[in-house]
Amino acid sequence: MTKKNRKVGVSRRGFLKTLGVGGAGMLIPSGALAAQERVPQPSDGELATLLDLSKCIGCGECVSACRESNAAKFPEPKKPFPEMIPASRAKPEDWSDKRDLDGRLTPYNWLFLQNVEVVYKGEEYDINIPRRCMHCQNPPCANMCPFGAANKHENGITRIYDELCMGGAKCRNVCPWHIPQRQSGVGLYLDLMPSLAGNGVMYKCDRCYQLLDKGELPACISVCPEDVQTIGPRHEIVAQAKALANKMNGFIYGLEENGGTNTIYVSPVPFDLLNKAVDKGKGKPHMKQVADVMADETNLATATLIAPVAGIAAGFLGLGAKLMKIAGSSGESKGDSDES
Ligand code: SF4
Ligand code: SF4
Ligand code: SF4
Repeated sequence: MTKKNRKVGVSRRGFLKTLGVGGAGMLIPSGALAAQERVPQPSDGELATLLDLSKCIGCGECVSACRESNAAKFPEPKKPFPEMIPASRAKPEDWSDKRDLDGRLTPYNWLFLQNVEVVYKGEEYDINIPRRCMHCQNPPCANMCPFGAANKHENGITRIYDELCMGGAKCRNVCPWHIPQRQSGVGLYLDLMPSLAGNGVMYKCDRCYQLLDKGELPACISVCPEDVQTIGPRHEIVAQAKALANKMNGFIYGLEENGGTNTIYVSPVPFDLLNKAVDKGKGKPHMKQVADVMADETNLATATLIAPVAGIAAGFLGLGAKLMKIAGSSGESKGDSDES
């Protein structure tokens, strides 16, 4: 049996040549060449990333780069944590003594690798899957946050503002992949209602917004030695993903999931096989097909009710003007609770 993990690939140089680097709206692959280019700014519309799973060797450089690049954003909790009333309302979650844990999503690890060995059409594949927030086009985490702490930017980023987050984990409950992770003992709830509301701050990939704002590549993209990820305007990324999938006779994930995401995976083996094989659980998201959470009428109605409340909360906290610049959206889901 032949073992494959890099059967199909598009070289960085070939890719650049094909795209005609230097033109407006070009796709930006990773590495040294890309460092000379700039990531398209919000005026280009939503940015999306393409992850070519046939190229990932599982080296973990992206995971390390994410942690290093975002270390200043990681929480420094105060201990002991306030007692919750009632105690059963929300258990504190503390990852501060496990900051080096990199085998799942935590408040200190926003990207991790899933490795699977699967057999498809008689051939064995060793596939590595970088996992993080999918940056949904219509994100229930942002639509359903009762405090307006999670927001979607015009350039497609979904970000949780730690200054506003109460750590109630609504975002995690409604996220189809339960991506955001809570750290207790930090954030606004300590000043407002330490025992009665919230329980910390939720953390997840913010797509290195501070780098994108400067026109630079996210850390996980620029560090990758195999050019696994490509970032660019969504319509171009989608076209590229379809062309790549067609070339490798492969499969796409993220195009339709949850109504469409700004993270598009292309794999030489079907995603239902990958989903069956991946280690799933808390902090370890599945890869199954996901219906559009926000298409649910109940969720839409709830989102409509929540939206003005979120706006008032943001204004009350003095961040309204800042957040009004962010392209938000509205909506809720019944996603499984990931409370622990
Ligand atoms: S740095 Fe690139 S090749 Fe290495 S694990 Fe991450 S995506 Fe895969
Ligand atoms: S719903 Fe989940 S995957 Fe989608 S943007 Fe929010 S946290 Fe990310
Ligand atoms: S985009 Fe930035 S925050 Fe998100 S996984 Fe990559 S390095 Fe981490």
